Amino acid sequence: MESMDQKIDEMIADLKSYLEYLKGMGIVSLPAYEMKADEPGQSTMITLEDVRKELGDCKRCKLHRTRKTIVFGEGNEKATLMFIGEGPGYDEDVQGRPFVGKAGQLLTKIIQSINLSREEVYIANIIKCRPPQNRNPEPDEIQNCHPFLMKQISVIQPKIICALGTFSAHTLLKTDAKITALRGKLYNLEGIKVIPTYHPAFLLRNPEKKREVWEDMKKIAELIQTQ
Ligand code: SF4
Repeated sequence: MESMDQKIDEMIADLKSYLEYLKGMGIVSLPAYEMKADEPGQSTMITLEDVRKELGDCKRCKLHRTRKTIVFGEGNEKATLMFIGEGPGYDEDVQGRPFVGKAGQLLTKIIQSINLSREEVYIANIIKCRPPQNRNPEPDEIQNCHPFLMKQISVIQPKIICALGTFSAHTLLKTDAKITALRGKLYNLEGIKVIPTYHPAFLLRNPEKKREVWEDMKKIAELIQTQ
C-alpha cells in the first residue's frame, strides 16, 4: 500500500507537470478558488457571474474581430457533470449559447440518454468565440481563453468532465493521442474525473460511432451514481 508521503509526492509531481504544461502554453496564472470581498472583513466564493463580468467584452485574442457573440457556457452552476466541446459554430455564434445547432441537438439527446437534462449539467467550450470558417482554434487563442474555462471549472467544481472531441481532450489532458485511443477511458484533471468521447459533430458525419459514445455515457452514468 502506498504511504501518505508517496501519495503527496505523486500529487506534487502531477501538479508540477500540469503547471509546466500551462506555462508552455503561456498561461501564467491559475484560477484558484478566489474570494471576493463584499464588505470589509467579509468574503464569498466567486460565481460564474463574476467570471462572466471579468471576461467582459473580451478582446484578448483575434477571434473577437469576427465573432458575433461570446459563447460563455450555460447550465447548472453546481453541476456534477460538465461537457466541454471545442468552440462555437455558426448557430452558437448567432445565439450566444453553446451546442444549439444540429450537433447541439444531438448532444441534448446524449445527455438525456443518461436521464439528465441540459439544465442539470454545464456545457462550455475550450474557446468562447467562433473561429472563422470553424477552423481549429490557434494556440494564442486557447492561451487567452483557457484561464476563463478553468475559472468556470473552479466555480462549478464538477465531479466529472466529458471532453467532447479531439480538441477538447487534447487541451484538457495535454496529450496528442488520438481520440480513438482516449475515448471511454478515465483521466484525472486536478482531482476531476475526465472521460473523452467523440464530438457530436463527428457523430453526425459518422453515425456508426454512436454506439461507442453510448458506451462512454454508460460509464459516466455509473460514475455519477458513485458520487
Ligand atoms: S476566444 Fe476567448 S480570449 Fe478570444 S476574444 Fe473570445 S472570449 Fe476572448
